[in-house]
Amino acid sequence: MNLLTLLDMVAAGHGDRLALGTAQNGLTGEQLRDQAYAGASQVTAQDIDTVVFMGENGPAFPLALFAAAAAGVPLLPLNYRLAREQLHDAVARQGRTLLISDDTALAGLGNVVRAIGLRDWTELCAGHPPTPTAPVQPDPDEVAVLLLTSGTTAAPKSAVLRHRHLAAYVLGSVEFGGADADEAVIVSVPPYHIAAVANLLSNLYSGRRVVYLETFTATAWLETVAAERVTHAMLVPTMLARIVDELERGDTPAPTTLRSLSYGGARLPSTVLERALTLLPGTGFVNAYGLTETSSSVAVLGPEDHRRALDSEDPDVRARLGSVGRPLPSVAIEIRDEAGQPCPPGAIGMIYVKGAQVAGEYRESGPVTDADGWFATRDEGHLDAEGYLFVRGRADDTIIRGGENIAPAEIEAVLQRHPDVRDAAVVGIPDEEWGQRIGAFIVLKPGASATEDGMRAFVRQRLRSSKTPDAVHFLDELPHTPTGKVLRRELLAQAPQPA
Ligand code: ATP
Repeated sequence: MNLLTLLDMVAAGHGDRLALGTAQNGLTGEQLRDQAYAGASQVTAQDIDTVVFMGENGPAFPLALFAAAAAGVPLLPLNYRLAREQLHDAVARQGRTLLISDDTALAGLGNVVRAIGLRDWTELCAGHPPTPTAPVQPDPDEVAVLLLTSGTTAAPKSAVLRHRHLAAYVLGSVEFGGADADEAVIVSVPPYHIAAVANLLSNLYSGRRVVYLETFTATAWLETVAAERVTHAMLVPTMLARIVDELERGDTPAPTTLRSLSYGGARLPSTVLERALTLLPGTGFVNAYGLTETSSSVAVLGPEDHRRALDSEDPDVRARLGSVGRPLPSVAIEIRDEAGQPCPPGAIGMIYVKGAQVAGEYRESGPVTDADGWFATRDEGHLDAEGYLFVRGRADDTIIRGGENIAPAEIEAVLQRHPDVRDAAVVGIPDEEWGQRIGAFIVLKPGASATEDGMRAFVRQRLRSSKTPDAVHFLDELPHTPTGKVLRRELLAQAPQPA
């Protein structure tokens, strides 16, 4: 299967029902196919190596994705708000490029577009009639999408995802039986994140209408969910936290149509999850864990798991609310120690994944999977006796203080439970005596008056004393990537340097 087989299924399945957008501004399944194929003919005629998409969430993105696929070239979605040098660097590596964009991004890009020599899609396609046939049928092994990793731990790399990886994800993740005709999903993560690609494909394949939110705010999200009677949603933790705050303020009513809410991309603080579960009792929650290199989710904690954990008296079952669930049926997950040997249940090691959706390849360095197809995620974690996966965090974020390995997530989870704390992150600060010291960065709730000593005491009462932060810094906001990851390098730069 390739993305065009999927598009043809969407055209047949949705027919003249809306596949994208709203009644005022949307595309039916057939219109999506016909417009994408018309665009593809123009791309093919231009002899292009890569189509670059720079734009907001909206119908232009799926059109670009399918048009590139039908022209037999990869699509690279980029964040048009990146610095000019980063855009140049990313585009320069992709050979002959064509830009597909939307009005908002074009206005924002201004002369950057001219400077990087990209061409505009709208002009290219003007006057060309829709067509129901693709100019090219890509081989499943061809590259469908290139995505820059978020660059939280290193310089961004271009992850390669082939048609067969994305098709395997779609087939391995959708529920059998398809969606009801009234189902609609809201996609609010930006197009340059794997979750936007994966959610678009799997929801279209299921038969859902995909509703977009151009720019995320909690109020706009809640209003769109209500207006479009949205039934399914995917959010990164920072977005869910804002929605929870907004609902608790009481100005906007809770959605009544939302059946399923999936969250992931970074660890969700347990306090936010608990509040969300209380505020949205009729919604099934799904924690999805995955990486760009694995075509998004490889493990999920489903609604039934959430309910069972909440209702259980058994501490091991309750603890699963903090897990990312079990592997998708087509994925294998293994925990390995430093010698590369499999770890028993409960033991912490590096998380390895394998499966037809696992690409594990970069344009810059080629494949990085081992001879048996296993991909090292660089995340640490453990499996419990029933195969539930607990993610401790990035191995690169581990703090080594006086020879002891300390996971920032463990301290963050404690700080986030303090009644005065809105958000918290912990990083290792270089130190001559200890190698690294523990620096905690805290955002307080409005009006809260917690002190550095109070925070340290709160952690000391709950964790071993070596895990007490050596220094506590209060900030107005934590620096996050647009997809909700804490920018630890920026925090480190803000930490006072040793005298
Ligand atoms: P870079 O390698 O440049 O730092 P990145 O790995 O942050 O980029 P992504 O592929 O977007 O880029 O992020 C994947 C990472 O996000 C995972 O390895 C994991 O650390 C984290 N993550 C994803 N989903 C979850 C989840 N549900 N719970 C906890 N962490 C998650």
